[in-house]
Amino acid sequence: MELAATLSKNTTGSQPWDGMLPRGMTCKACGKVLNATGGRPAELYLGTFTGLCYECERKPFFVERVDALDGARWVSYPPSCPSNRRDRVSHIGYADCTICDGNGVSQTTYQNWSWYYESCSACRTRYYGHPVRVKRQARHEQLYTAANAVWKGEVERIARTLLPKKAKKKAVKAAMESLYCHPRMAAIRREIFERYKRASGRLVAIENAALAAAVAA
Ligand SMILES: [Zn+2]
Ligand SMILES: [Zn+2]
Repeated sequence: MELAATLSKNTTGSQPWDGMLPRGMTCKACGKVLNATGGRPAELYLGTFTGLCYECERKPFFVERVDALDGARWVSYPPSCPSNRRDRVSHIGYADCTICDGNGVSQTTYQNWSWYYESCSACRTRYYGHPVRVKRQARHEQLYTAANAVWKGEVERIARTLLPKKAKKKAVKAAMESLYCHPRMAAIRREIFERYKRASGRLVAIENAALAAAVAA
């Protein structure tokens, strides 16, 4: 069952909900039933739910995937101590890095009985500095900026219909501000955002196809 569906089902019942997700949900990594024996309620309690069983959540670091573009490794780490349940975190590393040995973590810092992993900044800089990723980022920012401009333009257009013809800039601005969060604008905002998401998805597909072709060549 979808998590969202589960939540809406659980919160609309007449009984106050105890925060437990329904039995039978499985670990997204190994497929084992969560809290199967009833001895690990945290696996199914919404406040501590990570979609993983204890073993998978705490498994030592491993390479999740390697980018075809330049061999960047995404390394998955267990949540840092103390042992309250949290999501695993990924760090980026290159196999030839002498700082992190390709594991994406430059050091483990211990502090107040807990620790955290510090990302290797050399690998991060290398990853985000790759010209293909820089271009990609710029294109996505352009798309986002354009969508924002469409939204702002729409708000301004509607604001002007509510004001006299020769309204002052200040009045337009004030009307626009009251419109941004107006419930009647929600559908328009959603529509523009959905359009942006579709365009962004298409862009990602085109970029991935171009990348796959370049790697195969
Ligand atoms: Zn598991
Ligand atoms: Zn590194």
